[in-house]
Amino acid sequence: MSLKTGRAWIEVNIENLRHNVEVLKKVMQPGCELMAVVKAQAYGHGAVLTASHLNKMGVRAFAVATIDEGIALRKGGVCGEILILGYTEVSRASELKEYDLLQTLVSFEYAEALNHQGIAVKVHIKIDTGMHRLGIACGELSAVRKVFFMENLNICGMFTHLCCSDSRHPDDVAFTRGQIDNFYNMADSLRDSGIILPKLHIQSSYGLLNYPDLACDYVRVGIALYGVLSSPADDTVVKPDLRPVLSLKSRVVLIRNVEAGENVGYGRHFTAGRDTRIAILPIGYGDGFPRNLSDPKGSVLIDQYVVPVVGRICMDQLAVDITDTDGVSVGDIVTLAGAEGYDKLSVPVVADSSGSISNELLCRMGARLPVIAR
Ligand SMILES: *Cc1c(COP(=O)(O)O)cnc(C)c1O
Repeated sequence: MSLKTGRAWIEVNIENLRHNVEVLKKVMQPGCELMAVVKAQAYGHGAVLTASHLNKMGVRAFAVATIDEGIALRKGGVCGEILILGYTEVSRASELKEYDLLQTLVSFEYAEALNHQGIAVKVHIKIDTGMHRLGIACGELSAVRKVFFMENLNICGMFTHLCCSDSRHPDDVAFTRGQIDNFYNMADSLRDSGIILPKLHIQSSYGLLNYPDLACDYVRVGIALYGVLSSPADDTVVKPDLRPVLSLKSRVVLIRNVEAGENVGYGRHFTAGRDTRIAILPIGYGDGFPRNLSDPKGSVLIDQYVVPVVGRICMDQLAVDITDTDGVSVGDIVTLAGAEGYDKLSVPVVADSSGSISNELLCRMGARLPVIAR
């Protein structure tokens, strides 16, 4: 058993990542820069590993959710701009400066408090155009104007976030166009009042794929960069040839025979209907493989066989039925998600079977598993 890969691991395909950067850039308008969203361990792909490779591919703008994610990137040697999309305690302003991180202004009060720290920091202003999560309300022009005059805040960008850009439903499209128009109208009013506009950005992955006509300064791409859509049924206006970057792997550590009538796992949830060969895999929901995929929902790939999970998925182990396979042995590599050529084991389909989306499935894998680039 290779020490490098051990019991379970995430494998990332750097060539596919490079390919995705290239095809996404082709969809982007000229002059627009790709801001790679690498929050939550780059959706499970390993933040420093992924961002370092992206650096080598020429990507120079990144987004994270927290200041500690930003600091980890800097300590890992990542160059370029790093925008923190979420809230940071204003008492950490000196770290924003020290690590050269850009902070999102999540509200007007927050801007005042950060400015009040007396430390010069770079920021992007967040504008709320209808998601009603973070940001200064789009109508509050005078508040936004005031922020531009706060002496310790260096306004490098202004952005909004679309809340239903993944939907092609006419109502949602109209709502999204309204968000976009309101954002640009606010920017125009600011400019008319004499303010020099900073970099503007609106789109995340679906914003880019469904509204590719927008000419922004950045697109904040997360899930599409990793080569998957959120859900298998999703359709987009442009359909670049995205290639999945991640696969989730483990190994068979033990094979046992269970007689008809015996149980496997917690709660005696599975009872063998026949004499059954069971393979035990040392991976579980503690590694981000959802417990929701317990018998009868989950399956895994071993030696070209797609075999079902039996019983309940444990925190650190799960069992699969290999009765109908031939030649599976201890040490064999198993793919649990992101199996090339097996749609049923693609990340969006596995996420959907577990009642979630690719984004959640991927980022939950980031907790305990080592990441290996290939
Ligand atoms: C997470 C996030 C993104 C990236 O979203 P994807 O759908 O994964 O591309 C972009 N912008 C903001 C504000 C986010 O929080």
